[in-house]
Amino acid sequence: MNRDLSTLAGPTLASALTESSVVVLPTGAIEHHGPHLPLATDYVTATTVAAAAVDRAVGQGVDAWLLPGLAYTKSDEHHWAPGTVWLSWDTLMRTLVDIGRSVAMTPARKLLFVNGHGGNTALLSVALRELRVRFGLQTFLTGTSSPAGDGVNGPDELGFGIHGGHAETSMMLHLRPELVDMTLAERNVPEQLAGFTRLGFHGSAVFGWQSDDFTASGVIGDPTGATAEWGVELFERSVASVTEVLGEVARFERRPDAARPPIG
Ligand SMILES: [Zn+2]
Repeated sequence: MNRDLSTLAGPTLASALTESSVVVLPTGAIEHHGPHLPLATDYVTATTVAAAAVDRAVGQGVDAWLLPGLAYTKSDEHHWAPGTVWLSWDTLMRTLVDIGRSVAMTPARKLLFVNGHGGNTALLSVALRELRVRFGLQTFLTGTSSPAGDGVNGPDELGFGIHGGHAETSMMLHLRPELVDMTLAERNVPEQLAGFTRLGFHGSAVFGWQSDDFTASGVIGDPTGATAEWGVELFERSVASVTEVLGEVARFERRPDAARPPIG
């Protein structure tokens, strides 16, 4: 069954969607991923995982629909690298608000972001409430990557495999192997950060950063041991996770008489 919203005619969409439909927006990025991966890595991952999860969730009875992915997002941590095409935070926020306003014009009342780029997470989290308050949508956010600490990061990455490392490179070796050049894959792990108990990319104390703060190539991680087999495993985990999220989003209901503001 066709679940690509952009291929429907407007009147068809208006009658096909209902209040319980879940609209899915993949958010990727076009950004520098080191010498061995394509700029579209996060876009490919977000759109492919989201499409597979929508298919699977529909097969399980969830009324899910897919929007075309958002390719240009908040990649300012890679602004220094040619090829990165990024939106500033306020441009992206306004874009998300406009997309939310547009979704609110359909019968659907639920919108799920499936995010493939970590640099978007904080802003998407703010957008969730903005769209909830302004348009009355029920809004949700999930990501394409597996939770940290589950063995995704190889032991050589010291937990810092966040960009162009083992996981992302393995995923792309599975999804688009012709776009990966493993002869250029190099280990770039910010070992100096391993000495901190509090300060880090995530956790109790964080810093503002750009990717060339730590490595000249912009890679943060160790892609050298990446394999397509691990990519299959990661892809399956991601699709399973997003599918499960879609099932829970479908069941999620707020208090029926909670305030529903007019579209603004
Ligand atoms: Zn990435």
